[in-house]
This record gives sequence, C-alpha cells and structure tokens, in this order.
Amino acid sequence: MRSLLCVLGLAIATTVSAAESPAPRLLAVTAARLIAPEQGKVIEHPLVLIKDDRIVEVRSGGAVPAEYINRSDLGDATLLPGLIDVHVHLDYGPDFSTGNYYKDILTLGPIDLAVIAPNSARRTLEAGFTTVRNLGSNAYIDIALRNAIDRGKISGPRIIASGIALGATGGHADGGTGFAPNIEFHGANGVVDGVDAIRQRVREEVKRGADVIKFMAGAGVLSNEDSVGAAQYTQAEMDALVDEAHRWGRKVAAHAHGAEAIKMAIKAGVDSVEHCSFIDDEGLKLARQRGTWLDFDVYNDDYILSEYAKLGVPQAQIDKEKLVGRTQRESFRRAVRAGEKMAFATDAGVYPHGWNAKQFAKMVEWGMTPMQAIQAATTQAAELLGWSDKVGSLQPGRYADLIAVDGDPLTDISRLEHVRFVLKGGERVK
Ligand SMILES: [Zn+2]
Repeated sequence: MRSLLCVLGLAIATTVSAAESPAPRLLAVTAARLIAPEQGKVIEHPLVLIKDDRIVEVRSGGAVPAEYINRSDLGDATLLPGLIDVHVHLDYGPDFSTGNYYKDILTLGPIDLAVIAPNSARRTLEAGFTTVRNLGSNAYIDIALRNAIDRGKISGPRIIASGIALGATGGHADGGTGFAPNIEFHGANGVVDGVDAIRQRVREEVKRGADVIKFMAGAGVLSNEDSVGAAQYTQAEMDALVDEAHRWGRKVAAHAHGAEAIKMAIKAGVDSVEHCSFIDDEGLKLARQRGTWLDFDVYNDDYILSEYAKLGVPQAQIDKEKLVGRTQRESFRRAVRAGEKMAFATDAGVYPHGWNAKQFAKMVEWGMTPMQAIQAATTQAAELLGWSDKVGSLQPGRYADLIAVDGDPLTDISRLEHVRFVLKGGERVK
C-alpha cells in the first residue's frame, strides 16, 4: 500500500510539474563580434544561445539550431557581457536636487528620494549596466529597490546593496557636520563610534538586508569636514568592523582618499577601497599583498568641477575636489602599472545616473588598455562581488545579461557610451 501511494504521488507530481512548467524560452543572438573578457579576446561572428535566463553556449559561426525560433541579428555590432559598476548611489544625485544644496538638505526626505530612485535604476540598466553595487543609501532605499527589482516589480540592474554607510561622528557619513549644534538630523543615519557600537551596528545593517558593509575609513569631498584625506576611525574600530562583517558573511567596502586611511583599511582586511586618491607606494604594495581591490572613480571630477557650483554646493567642497581630482587619476595610473586588482567604480549619483560608461574613456586615457577597462567592468568586478559564477562573462550557466554597441569598443572605447541593445536575464530591456 505504501509503495502504491508513493507511485501515485510520483505520478501526480510528474503530471503537475509537466502542466506547470512552460516551454523554455530560447533565443539566439548573432553579431559581428563578441568580447570575451574572461579570455581577453574577441570572438568573430558569435552565436549566443540563451535558454530562459541563462547562457547555454557561445560559438563562433555555425548555423542557428532549428529550435531557436526567436533570433536577434545585430549586424555590425559588438556583444559584451552586461556591465558592472561596483560603486553607485541610486537614491542620490543631481537628478534628485532642487538646485539648491541647503534646500535639498532641509526639504528632501527619504520618501522623496525613494520616489525618484527607480528612474536611476532604469536609466542605469538601459545604459548597459546590468549589475551594480550600491554603496551607501538613505534609509535602506537601496535594499527596497533591490527587492522590488528581484521580484520583477520594477526595471533595474541586479543590486548588491549596502544599506546605510557607517562612519564616525563629525565624519563623511555625518550629515550634521557644519550645521549649528541646535540643528539635529533625525532618522536613519550611519554615525557610530567605538568598537562595541560598531559591531552592533554592523549586525543591524545585516538584519536590515545589507549584502555588503560600506564605511568611511577617512574623510570625503562632498561633506563639510575640513580635511579630505584624514582617517576617521581608529585601527581598532576598523578591525572590529571588518571582523564583524566577515563573521556575518558580508564583504566590506571602505571609502578612503588619504594615504593613511587607505593603509589602515587594507590592514583591517577590507575587500575594496573606494576612491584611493592619495594612495602611496606602501599602500599599493599592501593592497597587492592582501589581495585588496582598489576602486578609482576617475570620471566624476569633470562633472563636479563644471556643474556643482550651479547646484549651490559649498565652495569648500568644490575646493576639496580640486585637491583630489588630478592626483586621483595619477594614482590610478600608478595602480595600473603596479598590476593592482581594480574594478570599475564610478560613484554614479555624483553625476547623473546612466552616464556610468563615460568613465571608460578616462580609464583608457590614464593607462588601461580598452580590454583592461572592459575587464574591470565585467570579470574583475564580478570577482570583487563574489558573483563570478553569475555575471561578468557569457560562459554557459551565467545569467543572460548581454549588451551590444555599434562598431568595436576595442578601437573606440567611447562606443560603450551608446549601448543599443540590453538583455537582462534573457529578457529584452532595450
Ligand atoms: Zn560613493
């Protein structure tokens, strides 16, 4: 009797699953060439076979199998894996501003930002960035955005979200700096001091859904503290933060411009350092020894210097950018020559969302080959995120995140600023 029930159960289960599972979605994409960053080479006349949300196979030439009825022939285009930006702020940026820095601070709350944030997500995806890491958000907007996108409710890239960025009192994460002491900013903020409080706060971020922990190891440009390079946590505080995050299986990204802050963060064991502007040779060496990723946002200096005065940003912040901009690009070139691990990170939100690819030309201007710049935004970025088995290349089993541009970005990297075809998880976005 028991075995009969089992057989019956199996039969019912088989019938149900056959009725419920629709025919697989099959799609064949062809173009003039495909950049395979994992091999550092170009495949001529590629044929990309996609089943549901995954890559099945990439071939050079050959006939499209008969069962692939849906076909996209993109002509003289170049195919690439969907791009990855490991440093964005989807709920922040010039698009969010009223055009007046102080009015923004006093009138825009998290709900105002959350209403606009889906536009940033859609524009980023349509620009060919199918995966991003959001490093610092207001009131966990990035986590809500990630969840809504994952559930298919709104259009946007895959998001690795940090939640709120942590930092010291008076530091780069403290929005109250520079205001009168009787003015208080309530609501979610990332100000936390001392080893025990930092450990508790890391746990809080994990509890709220953070995939990665972001903290300010040192001072910043777009905030009101004096210095741009100073360390803002003690070594013990950074050590505790990284130890706690790693215990909970979360990687850590540290914001740092100054040479000391960068080295302290690397010694604490962070997974990536963001900005890296004044990194010295000792810092470069330490990063190589520890396998730390260095993420340089080398485009946005142009935008800050040309546009931020119009947004009413205090001159002191713009002056700090002038200290950072060129030196950061020179540091980037030294890091390329030193063979550091580097991922594509733009700080989108400092400039308008969807402009991410403008950074490629800067990376090539300052020492990377076009292939290296593309690898930074694909295979390298995926490795930093711990997602090499999901994104960053078009190998079998990865998500069918695929973009196309006209012409060949290896001869003209700015082609990547004009993405004309975007597929995310096998679904046509553009
Ligand atoms: Zn940032």
